[in-house]
Parts: sequence; C-alpha cells; structure tokens
Amino acid sequence: MKLGDFELNTISDGAFALDGGQMFGVVPKPLWERKAPADERNRIRLSLTCLLIRTGRQTILVETGLGDKFDSKFKDIYDVQHPPTLPASLDELGLKPEDVDIVINTHLHFDHCGWNTRRLDGKTVPTFPRARYFIQRGEWRRAVNPSERERASYIEEFFEAAEPQTEFLDGDAEIAPGIRVEVVPGHTRYLQCVRIDSGNECAYFISDTVPTAAHLAYPWIMSFDLYPMETLASKKRLLPELAHKKAIVVFPHDPNVPWVRLMESDGKIVAQPI
Ligand SMILES: [Zn+2]
Repeated sequence: MKLGDFELNTISDGAFALDGGQMFGVVPKPLWERKAPADERNRIRLSLTCLLIRTGRQTILVETGLGDKFDSKFKDIYDVQHPPTLPASLDELGLKPEDVDIVINTHLHFDHCGWNTRRLDGKTVPTFPRARYFIQRGEWRRAVNPSERERASYIEEFFEAAEPQTEFLDGDAEIAPGIRVEVVPGHTRYLQCVRIDSGNECAYFISDTVPTAAHLAYPWIMSFDLYPMETLASKKRLLPELAHKKAIVVFPHDPNVPWVRLMESDGKIVAQPI
C-alpha cells in the first residue's frame, strides 16, 4: 500500500493461539465466540503481524513476531504455526535482514520481539545486523525484571543480544521523518504505538491496545493488560482521533484483517475494509 510517499506492507511471522477468555477480559464467551471461534482447548487463532515501512530512504520494521527460539512444549501450548516466518516474508519482498535500518518494538512480550535475535552457531545474535532497535527504556527495565504477573510474557533471549544496537527512549519520539512513537499505557506501562504520516495520510500501528478488529469496541480489553482502565482511556482518546483523520489502523493479531481504515459515520466509529 502507498501512504503518501511511503510504501507499507503488513508481513507475517505466522500465527499462534491464546486462551479466548484471556483475550477478551470481561466479555462473556457467547459474545466473543461469534467473532473468534475457540478450539477444543478454548484457544483462538491470532496472527503475528509486523509492519514494514519503506520511506524511500529507510527500511523500518515494526515488531518482529515470535521468532523460532522455542521448544516443542511452547509450540504446543501456543499452537505456533510456521511458515510463514518473518525472514521468509521479508525475502518475498526482496529484502535481507541486513537491509533493515530500524526495528521498532512496541513492547517486549514474546510475540512482538521474537526475531530481534536468532541463534547462530550456538550463540544468540541480533537478526538485523545493521539495524538500530528502538524501545522505551521503561519497557526494557520491566522486561528484564518482570513482576510475577508478567513473567510468562517475557523471554530475555528474544531481545537481550540486540542490546548493543538498542536505543532507549524516554517518552514520545520521532524515529525518522514522518515516523513517531507514542507511549500508550494500558497493556503495559510503557507500550509505544507507531504513528506514520506522509502527505496527508496517516497510518497507526496500534499494537496490543487493540489487538484485533473485535477489540475496537471499548470494553473489549484483554485480561493480560496490566492497567485495563488505562487501556480504556487510551482507546477513548485515540480511536475517535484516528477515525476523524480516516487513518489506517494496523492490528498486531487479527487473523482476518491486518488493517482497516477508521471512519466516522453518524457519530460512530466504523472500520472499513481496505
Ligand atoms: Zn501481542
């Protein structure tokens, strides 16, 4: 897709599955199951969607999926479906890991930073050798020293080896002309979303604030969220603004629609397929 002068592609690292109840928080199963059917273990299918931005000068990757550094027990619990994998998806677009200039992780949960690193000859090394990686400093601190409630969500091997290439941010920042990160608390304290502006067009990688299109409804908030009332406030602030701008919104985990255009209609927010 063209966005002003930029080219955007959603790219896939395959799919996985999480407990449907955890994905929809206070929403009862008879409601969510109509949108996301559960398997025999009550899990629903989720995508691992990353966003590639080519500005003409720089190649920027938002999120790096789940990676491949997990064992058979992990694969079974989360029903990991590879292929495709992120490196193969990049290859299909004619890109090698060394072509990526910038990696932005919205946060460091294992399903968002898996390919930050890879194993090579018994060592774990950065997957993107030339890239600068951007993360909020507060998110990194929580990831390396998580509370008991967050511990299962962080796997240090997925991100630690890229630390020498990492730039730690303290709040909102411009990463490149037209590419900004904004701290949007809720899912984690320091989750950062990515705002892309080119020409008069806007796209927004909304991360786990709205993991799938079903979560556009305000009370549909994951029970994983550490600060659900802040997720609610963030959604009520962001979604009307994005709809007013007719922005493209990119979801990290929707298995059917990686992105939609948000619009206003009769005072309501509507999602138009692209
Ligand atoms: Zn996620």
